[in-house]
This record gives sequence, C-alpha cells and structure tokens, in this order.
Amino acid sequence: MYSQDFLIEYAQKKSSEIEEFWAKEFQSDDRYAPVKKIIFESQLDESLGGMSELFKLFFRSLVSFSSYDYEFNQICIREGLFERVENEYGLIFIEYTLAHEWAHHIQFLLQKEVNFLELDLLETRKIELQADCISGFYFNQNSLGKEEVLQIKRTLENLGGDDEHGSSQERMKAFEKGLQFSHLNECFKEEQ
Ligand SMILES: [Zn+2]
Repeated sequence: MYSQDFLIEYAQKKSSEIEEFWAKEFQSDDRYAPVKKIIFESQLDESLGGMSELFKLFFRSLVSFSSYDYEFNQICIREGLFERVENEYGLIFIEYTLAHEWAHHIQFLLQKEVNFLELDLLETRKIELQADCISGFYFNQNSLGKEEVLQIKRTLENLGGDDEHGSSQERMKAFEKGLQFSHLNECFKEEQ
C-alpha cells in the first residue's frame, strides 16, 4: 500500500516519461504537440481555460476513471484513480492507464480526418483497441521487464471489457500486437 502522495508523484514521473518518449518518437515530425495538461476531477470547474460544458457532462457520466479530452487535449483523472488502480491491479497499471490516455492524444494528432467527438459505438471500439495497441508499442519501445508486461496482460485479460473498449480478449490482443510492432504506423493499419 503506497501513500497518496507517493502515487501522485509516481504518476507525475510516469507522465513526464511518456511525454518524453513521444516527443522523441516524433522529433523529426512536427505533428507532435504535448498533452496540454492533466487535470483532476476536483479541478474540473476552476481549471478550465476551456473545457466545454458538454465534456464536463460527458466526463461525469463516465464509468471509467480517466479520460482524454479530444477537444482540448487534456487528460482528466477522477479522484481516487491512482489508489484504486494500484490497489486492484498494481502500480504498473497506473503507467498503463496514463499510456492509454496518451495514446488517445497520439491518435488525435495523427488522424485529423477523424471526428473523435462524434464516433459511433463501432468506431469507438476501434479507437479504444487502437489505443491499447499504441500503449503496447510504448511499453515495447520502453523495454519493460517481462514480469511487468505479464502483469499488464493479466490485468487487461481480467478487466471484463465493455462495448466501448472491446472485450478483455480483444484488449489483450491489441496490446500484444503493439508490443510486437517496431513502427507505430502498424497500429494504424486498417486490420487493427
Ligand atoms: Zn481509452
């Protein structure tokens, strides 16, 4: 059991590492821009140099504990996320959760033709599985230990899945694909 301060510090450190990783991955590609900021649920109201009312409503209705705001390029974290994730799935899944939200940011930067605010269920699932693939790519390139990779796979396998994110099996498979890819583009191919 880690203290809340420790978990927040850990998440901040991982966020900088993820940001650094993607900035480097895109160093000769000017499409990259950093995630604007990470905000916590309790700051939703005051922190908004602009989050739409619609997004606030959407965010509050979410079952999930974190979310990427496609409109304002921010990652939103619900209160208690880190404690809950650490408790149920272990510390490494905090990094996974952040990597997954960053993957949505990458999707946004690379797929300007997609209207992320108006996806139907089928498109949403495709985007979510693609984000798991991109997360796998991140973890592979970051050469994570075997035990940690196994832990992420086990967690994805046991998450239960839902209509938006796909089944546990699908999520695990998407992550595994990303782990094997040596180029990010492979996560964006149609058969993904
Ligand atoms: Zn997602």
